[in-house]
Amino acid sequence: MHELSIAEQILDIANEYSERENVKAVQEIELEIGSLSGIEVDALTFALDVVTKNTVLHNAKVTIIDVPARARCESCSHEFLLEDFFSPCPECGAFQTETIQGQELRVKSLIVNDG
Ligand SMILES: [Zn+2]
Repeated sequence: MHELSIAEQILDIANEYSERENVKAVQEIELEIGSLSGIEVDALTFALDVVTKNTVLHNAKVTIIDVPARARCESCSHEFLLEDFFSPCPECGAFQTETIQGQELRVKSLIVNDG
């Protein structure tokens, strides 16, 4: 399952951060998931539940931020929201566009309680 390895990578990031910052528990983790990333949010949430047992992410609230896909037209440099991979530029109709956002999966922030 693709989402399981992603969940493990997210846990790795949280573990590294916690060791560096001497944190024992993360309260909340914010993830940015691009609409073109192909990640099933439900599957990822489930996988996170499984891999974070007895870790710094145990009981952490998972907040998912949807990142819409954006593209830049290679012909007129117009930037626009991409409905799917094959949408033409709404300004000039060109199909040569570069995807500039929407394929990412990123840990945006880890929120901890230092108290
Ligand atoms: Zn264009």
